[in-house]
Amino acid sequence: MDALLDIRNLKTSFFTHVGEVKAVGGISFSLRKGEALGIVGESGSGKSVTMMSLMRLLADSGKVVDGEILFEGADLIKLTEREMERIRGNDIGMIFQDPMTSLNPVYTIGKQLMEPLIKHKNMNKSDAYKTAVHMLSIVGIPSPDKRMKQYPHEFSGGMRQRVMIAMAIACSPKLLIADEPTTALDVTIQAQILELMKDLKDKINTSIILITHDLGVVADVCSRINVMYGGLIVESGSTRDIFYRSRHPYTWGLLKSVPNPKTLIKERLKPIEGQPPDLLKPPVGCPFAARCEYAMRVCINERPPLFEIGTDHVAACWLNHYQAPKVQSPVVKEA
Ligand code: SF4
Repeated sequence: MDALLDIRNLKTSFFTHVGEVKAVGGISFSLRKGEALGIVGESGSGKSVTMMSLMRLLADSGKVVDGEILFEGADLIKLTEREMERIRGNDIGMIFQDPMTSLNPVYTIGKQLMEPLIKHKNMNKSDAYKTAVHMLSIVGIPSPDKRMKQYPHEFSGGMRQRVMIAMAIACSPKLLIADEPTTALDVTIQAQILELMKDLKDKINTSIILITHDLGVVADVCSRINVMYGGLIVESGSTRDIFYRSRHPYTWGLLKSVPNPKTLIKERLKPIEGQPPDLLKPPVGCPFAARCEYAMRVCINERPPLFEIGTDHVAACWLNHYQAPKVQSPVVKEA
C-alpha cells in the first residue's frame, strides 16, 4: 500500500488536576496518497485530538503517551520542533472550523497568503503575489487581485473559509486536514465549501482528512470513513460500507441523525441519547455500552476487538461475533 500517513497504536492523554484523561486510547489507521478519509464522531470522541497529536499542536497538558505517527515513513513524534514547523507549513495544511482563529485581523489577506510562500517555498515577492492571486481564484474568490488588499473582516464567513483553504493549499501540501470546516456556515455555503474541497482533491492531488460530527458531510468528499467513539475507532470502512453495510450501533445512531433524504430512511432524525464515557475512567468493556440498546453482558466486561466484516471494513462490536445477521443498519437501500 502506498501510505502517506500511517498511525500505529496512538494514545494521547491530557494530564489534568483531577487525573489522566485518556482522550485517544490506542488507534491505528493509514491514509493512501490522494485518498480522502473522513473521521466522524461526536465531540469528545478523540477525532480532533488525533489530528492535534499529528500536527503536534496539543495543549500543554496533552501528550502522546504511546504509538507512532509515520508521515512518509518518518515518525512525527520524534522530529524536532523546527523540523515539525517545516512539515506543518509545507507538507501538511490545516483548515479549522473558525477561520478567524487562523487569520490575523491586522494584516491584509494578501500578506497572509504570501508569507508562507516566501518562507517555505523561497519565492520572491512578485512570484508569491501571483501565486496568492491564483490561489484565491482557485478557491472561487471573485476579483482576487482587489481582495488581496483587503482585511479578514471585509470577507463574509464563507469567503473567509475559502481564504483559509487557499492558505492551507498555497504550498501544495501532500496532506490537507480540515477540522469541522463547514460547521459555522449556513447550509448553502456548507455545500459550496464541500464541493470546493472535492474539486481541490482532484486539482491539486492532495490527500484529505476531513473531521466532522456529521456523517452527511463526508459522504460526497471521502472514499473511506473512520468512526470514532470514546477515543477509539469503532468502525472503519469504505463510505459505501459505512452508509449501507454498517455493523456498529453507534454508526447506526450517527446515520439516523443525518438529514439526507437520498440515503436515509423514513425514520425521524434522532440524536443519540445519553452521554459519552468519562475518559478519566474509561470503561473496561465497550465504550458505547451505556448508550447501546443491544448491549449484552459481554459488552460490559470485555472490550470488543475490531472484527473483520469485509475487505477494509472492521467494526468493534460483539454483535458481529454473536448475532450479526439479525441486526441491520438503518440505511436499507443502496443509492
Ligand atoms: Fe453495543 Fe455491545 Fe456492540 Fe458495544 S459491543 S456497540 S454495547 S452491542
